[in-house]
Formats: sequence, structure tokens, C-alpha cells
Amino acid sequence: HIDNSPVLYMDGVTVSFDGFKALNNLSMTIEKGEMRAIIGPNGAGKTTMMDVITGKTRPDEGTIRFSSSANQAKNTNTDYDLTQYDEAAVANLGVGRKFQKPSVIESLTIFENLEMSLKGGRTLWQSLFHKLSQEQKLKLDEILHLIDMSDKANDLAGNLSHGQKQWLEIGMLLGQEPELLLIDEPAAGMTDEETMKTAELFKTLAKTHSLMVVEHDMDFIEALGCKVTVLNEGSVLAEGTLQEVKANEDVIEKYLGR
Ligand code: ADP
Repeated sequence: HIDNSPVLYMDGVTVSFDGFKALNNLSMTIEKGEMRAIIGPNGAGKTTMMDVITGKTRPDEGTIRFSSSANQAKNTNTDYDLTQYDEAAVANLGVGRKFQKPSVIESLTIFENLEMSLKGGRTLWQSLFHKLSQEQKLKLDEILHLIDMSDKANDLAGNLSHGQKQWLEIGMLLGQEPELLLIDEPAAGMTDEETMKTAELFKTLAKTHSLMVVEHDMDFIEALGCKVTVLNEGSVLAEGTLQEVKANEDVIEKYLGR
């Protein structure tokens, strides 16, 4: 195994729906510990890309390789061909996905929502009768701190603002201990203040995780300050800093129709 292999390597990925190529020879590499923003017009293939990475959709062609560092004791990476796994298995390998729509349980507290999300698949029923291990307690405290909700752990999730629900949801994703996070439009529907707070949260997360963030909000992407990939018609149109892709001829032509 190569120790510095990228966390995600996609090469020549094609997905067809009735002959229409939603992904067309898509190739992209995410380095370990990298945060990457993905932009592109509606229909560019952003959702389909997340679907093939997470085992929801199987590609017709191409390579999708995830390199896990979970086995750090041996100081080696383990590479997985994600096209061979289903959704549950991909999640279990360490690829976490957050959809745009929050799925927190509103009648439970923040703490209880997080408790259920912890790796190992606790159900509400189990949470009622089993105490958390010391390790799980520490993990939960760490997540509460990270999402800045330590002081409201016992508040009902239903009373949270839209932005707070999104943060809780990210906390729930972290409960599953993913290495690579795929996050769909986190800033959608957020106030400017919430958007900037989310950018700060992501910068903190990027110190310990690899992240792929699909987003339309350019202020948010600018605040992330990370490399940007522009998708168009199922493949990569441009890649670079936000300034670079904004100045890219192909991007200008596609977006501004020049
Ligand atoms: P984005 O997320 O960038 O808006 P999508 O990945 O949702 O783009 O879609 C890419 C293209 O593939 C679109 O033209 C869409 O209509 C098409 N598409 C996506 N899923 C399906 C499907 N299950 N069946 C047929 N066409 C699909």
C-alpha cells in the first residue's frame, strides 16, 4: 500500500441513464485532509457524483478508490474499490454523507439525537436501556463542543433554528466517525451569520477530516478558502482556487455565455 495515496481517487467515471451520461468520464482526486468545494450548474452531475461515491448508484465505467487511514496502528492505508460496496458498507468504511434536508428527530434532545448517531448503530430503544461507554461519552462531548452546543445538549432539537439543525446533523454525521465527509449544500437557507459560522466549523473539521462540499453560495466558498472543482455536463470543467476558476475561459463561457 502507498502511504500517501489520496483519500479519494476517481478516474473515468461514467454513469448513464437511458443513454444520457449524467457523469461522463469524470476524474478527480481529493488528497488526505483536503477540503474541496464542488460547484456547477443544475444538472452538472453533482448529486450523481455523490451517489456513485456512496454506493447509491453503480457507475457503468471507471474507478472510485477510497484510501482509509483507519488502520493507523499499522501505519498503512487500506484502499477500497467503492464501486463494489453498497451504501451501508461505504458508510461503514468511513465515507459519511450529509444530505441537504435535515433528518434530526425533533422530539428528542440534541444529546439524544447525537447518542443515536454514534457508530455501532444504537436505536432509541437501546439508548434508553444502555449506558454510554466512557469512550462514547468523550466522543459525544467532543462533538457537542465542535458544533458549539455543549450548553444546550438537553434542549429539544425541534426548537433549533434551521442553521442549528444543520450543525446538529453534521454532529450526527461525525458520530459515525467518517474520514471523508460529503456534504450537500450546507449553507442553503442559512443567514449570513450562520453561513460564516458554518465555514469556520468546516475549517475546524478539515484539520481532522477530508471534506467534499457541494455548494452554490460563493461567499461561503470564498470563506472556506479551499480548492474548487467546477463540474459541467458530467465532467470536470475547471479546478483551482476560487479566483482561478472564476477567471477560467471555459467557466466564463459556460456561465456567462460568452
Ligand atoms: P446536479 O446535482 O449537479 O444538479 P444531477 O447529478 O442531479 O445534477 O443530475 C445530472 C443529470 O442526470 C441531470 O440531467 C439529471 O436530469 C440526470 N439524472 C440524474 N438522476 C437521474 C435518474 N435517476 N434518471 C434519469 N436521469 C437522471
